[in-house]
Amino acid sequence: MPAYGGGWLDRAAARRADADWLAERLTDPESVVLPLWRDRCLADGDGPVRLTGEQASAVRAAAGETVFLGVDGDAAVFAVDLSELDERAAVEAAAATRAVDLRALAGRLDPAGAAVQAYARGLLLWHRQQRYCGACGAAAVAGGGGHVRTCAGAECGRILFPRIEPAVIVLVEAPGPPGRCLLARHAGAAEGACSTLAGFVEVGESLEDAVRRELVEEAGVTVTDVTYQGSQAWPFPAGLMVGFRAVATSEQVRVDGVELVEARWFTRSELRERIASGRPLGRVDSIDHLLLGDWLGADAPARPSAVS
Ligand SMILES: [Zn+2]
Repeated sequence: MPAYGGGWLDRAAARRADADWLAERLTDPESVVLPLWRDRCLADGDGPVRLTGEQASAVRAAAGETVFLGVDGDAAVFAVDLSELDERAAVEAAAATRAVDLRALAGRLDPAGAAVQAYARGLLLWHRQQRYCGACGAAAVAGGGGHVRTCAGAECGRILFPRIEPAVIVLVEAPGPPGRCLLARHAGAAEGACSTLAGFVEVGESLEDAVRRELVEEAGVTVTDVTYQGSQAWPFPAGLMVGFRAVATSEQVRVDGVELVEARWFTRSELRERIASGRPLGRVDSIDHLLLGDWLGADAPARPSAVS
């Protein structure tokens, strides 16, 4: 299971339009409130804080947007945005000790906790970036428990939904033996760093089309047998990563020098040696980790353990 997935919350979508129920839950002492500040978790020594009762009421009074995330057992779960405060005031209002990026906690949070924080982060960011209607420029007003915004323009009234930007990520195999996969160093990555290839899906493309196009554009590689492997919520800021395997039709590689600065074929033993020498292959919380781990075999994690 990729990080940030497998959410344990019942999203209770049918409740989003029930304003009375939401108002009651907001004053229910059992309800849980997760405060965030400008894309960051507000955490104490145990990880992101989860506020209830009077602390939850107090933080809501200081917050901008409040969104309904779902139901955990009998408790409704909300997230609130403290981005309008400065950092110190936000930390104080949340009874936290610090503001920290969720990805900096990768590998240390339980998967369910990481998933709900990612969900909250993505939804609150969308509210901050969708204050106005893109069609007429009028203000857009939040509703539906924070899952839609509606344009207030008298002649428009457009309903706006949270935006997700899909990207494909691909493990490309060489056309013949020995088994090898293509890894690349992206522009800006550290010397020696390498990872699978990825790119955004464009308008008018299927996911498979995007895989074929990206490989040609960035690495000069034509691929066939594009097969789906899995997907990952990646709200950093608004992504959905869709993982594939594909097989190259030739071993020839020609990087574009813009997105990628180098790319080459690696055997499994080369990658295992690399991991054994403590050089990780990418982020521990990325689907990249799973694509490589699956290819190497379940006995060989794609990196030792720590966050890269
Ligand atoms: Zn409008």
